[in-house]
Amino acid sequence: MEKIKNYINGELVEPVGKEYIDNFNPSIGAVYSLIPDSDEQDVDLATKAAQAAFPAWSKTPKEKRARILQKLASLIENNLDRFAEAESRDNGKPLSLAKRVDIPRAAANFNFYATGVLHYASEAHQMEDTAINYTTREPIGVCGCISPWNLPLYLFSWKIAPALAIGNTVVAKPSEVTPYTAYLLSELCIEAGLPKGVLNIVHGLGHKVGAAITKHTDIPVISFTGGTVTGAEIARTAGPMFKKLSLELGGKNPNIIFDDCDFEKALGTTMHSSFANQGQICLCGSRIFVQRGIYEKFRDAFVAKTKKLTVGNPFDEGTNLGAVVSQPHMEKVLSYVTLAQEEGGTVLTGGHQVKLEGEQENGWYIAPTIIEGLAFDCRTNQEEIFGPVVTIMPFDTIEEVLAMANSTKYGLASTVWTQDITKAHNVAAQLHSGIVWVNTWLLRDLRTPFGGVKASGVGREGGFNAFEFFTEPKNVCIKL
Ligand code: NDP
Repeated sequence: MEKIKNYINGELVEPVGKEYIDNFNPSIGAVYSLIPDSDEQDVDLATKAAQAAFPAWSKTPKEKRARILQKLASLIENNLDRFAEAESRDNGKPLSLAKRVDIPRAAANFNFYATGVLHYASEAHQMEDTAINYTTREPIGVCGCISPWNLPLYLFSWKIAPALAIGNTVVAKPSEVTPYTAYLLSELCIEAGLPKGVLNIVHGLGHKVGAAITKHTDIPVISFTGGTVTGAEIARTAGPMFKKLSLELGGKNPNIIFDDCDFEKALGTTMHSSFANQGQICLCGSRIFVQRGIYEKFRDAFVAKTKKLTVGNPFDEGTNLGAVVSQPHMEKVLSYVTLAQEEGGTVLTGGHQVKLEGEQENGWYIAPTIIEGLAFDCRTNQEEIFGPVVTIMPFDTIEEVLAMANSTKYGLASTVWTQDITKAHNVAAQLHSGIVWVNTWLLRDLRTPFGGVKASGVGREGGFNAFEFFTEPKNVCIKL
């Protein structure tokens, strides 16, 4: 069986302990490769390599750094099919989605930050005739980047690209559940001529490799995307060490649909915001609030459309929903359907595992699920489910829907559907979330700040925000 390797100091290497763990293909529910079960020894080797590479990489002209990262982006584009197939097999997502979104976006992340660094300028503040201040921004050193399984290469590259472009070196850990495209990326880094030690990828378990990165004394920066519980654990370790910390965490996003929306657009986009990537996107709208005047019409049309979605082999062109990422995750998601029923909810469609035939008979599939009749403050409506399960609820007034939308501990993204621009603006201003989409969903301009409030995270990624995070400013004040 194929063994994935760590990428340390420019080479593909076995873990020091020579131990491996199983890597599953969720669409068939079977092991198809082995992942290094790395530990703190591997993290230490990676950190030493990254430290050794830092002085030269940070002093490399940014134009040269940019060229190497753009070459990496081109190589990803040239390998689109291979990467998309690998992502789909590792994660269970439809191949069409990986081809259209995940892999192009990974290439775009490298291109965006490679060119962005050429435009990044420092600030100067003049105090009339008294003094002038200028602020430099220097790369910090070795950055730890830890990413989740839902958009594996997309989110992995979203961290690595700005960290490297601005002159840091990196020790990165992809999710143990979806390591494969990060492994393929390490092969391309060698081909692109990335100097050894600049990027190091250590595979393995969160509580071993992730924890070793978090507590390593020579890694002063941690950029983490994942669950809120893990984020809190990382903050507990990294906080007292005064590390720079960026946390992109969970969400329980509201989708607010007013009577005066463009009905067909709201309906079509809500299908995507509910079930894209099997509902496993931190930005999916899992609580759908529909104004009373169109509630029944919207609910019935939404249920009818959902019943027509195809749950199937991720490699089939007609598949809308592939497999969820793992058996434990499938069981967790289905346990929320049981909880919803205990809490008084009615399952309008879905609510069960889907058993496919043939090679996929042991895969982990869930029917897209819509639940009605729940109180806004019950557990189902407050906790992140992270699967193809949404709830739908009517509302009457703006005040009422804002109170319900803002009632969770999360605050990542919200979607608002209305033709009334004043109302859209008013509601957007009062939503407790880092991102608000009006009459659209997941429309991303990579220059904009990305991140959440409350338990959805600390800090912002995206655009120059990422460069600010991955640098230390120094102000120099010169008396004139
Ligand atoms: P986890 O928090 O379980 O894991 C995220 C990463 O952290 C993985 O690489 C994991 O490794 C690692 N990890 C686990 N435990 C530790 C630890 N103690 N110390 C350091 N690292 C650790 O999240 P999931 O992978 O389950 O991803 C889903 C979550 O991510 C959802 O809550 C989702 O909302 C959130 N998310 C947030 C986004 C945002 O931008 N705000 C975007 C996408 C997802 P391993 O896999 O080996 O356990």
